[in-house]
Amino acid sequence: MRRQLVAGNWKMNGSLVANAALLAEIKAGMASAVCDVALCVPAPYLAQCQAELAGTAIALGSQDVSAHAAGAYTGEVAVSMLQDFACRYAIVGHSERRAYHGETDEAVAQKALRAVQAGVTPIVCVGETLSEREAGQTDAVVGRQLQAVLDVLDAAQVDKMVVAYEPVWAIGTGKTATPQMAQDVHLALRAKLAGKNSAAAAEVKILYGGSMKPDNAVELLAMADIDGGLIGGAALKAADFLAIAAAA
Ligand code: PGA
Repeated sequence: MRRQLVAGNWKMNGSLVANAALLAEIKAGMASAVCDVALCVPAPYLAQCQAELAGTAIALGSQDVSAHAAGAYTGEVAVSMLQDFACRYAIVGHSERRAYHGETDEAVAQKALRAVQAGVTPIVCVGETLSEREAGQTDAVVGRQLQAVLDVLDAAQVDKMVVAYEPVWAIGTGKTATPQMAQDVHLALRAKLAGKNSAAAAEVKILYGGSMKPDNAVELLAMADIDGGLIGGAALKAADFLAIAAAA
């Protein structure tokens, strides 16, 4: 049985003061969490969040990682640096990075590989745009995005990643995929994983992301192949984030 994971993606939000308040509320409410919980925070706040989350069951993650180990890559953050702050997860290939920073499927795959090799779990984001969905290309697009990562991993590394299905049209828009729409894509993604390693495919968590809120989380998380959520906007409100974690 796959244990559910609820991961917050703070995106480019927060401040030392705001984070302290949010973390205090989350920690106070998280005592009886039964699912895995993680917070993917802006890199400058990793130290603060590591200190605040010490001794809790809440794991820390980054929102990106460099494909390179070290060197002349101005502005990049190496996986070894994330490990200095005990990051367990690194989001890679978020649609905002694909869209605004030109990240290709191949670049995302190299980031995922770098994380896996270091023992940090990449949360590999895939998702179609509205026009791709309307053109009936959803499975082809997310399949291509996932395949690029599978192409660079060994079969034995497949269970070292988390996948997040995030339809681009649902991110931050208030529009959510219906549970069945999401389940259909998750099933297709799991079949793709099985093509590389069938035993691992049964273990890999596939999260749903895109306007997940307390009032739709229960239905989404009840689907057979939805193993948690990647939460943007609702992760910035402690009560909402806690309610989603409680639904998992
Ligand atoms: P959202 O973002 O929950 O605000 O839609 C999800 C994400 O982009 O990871």
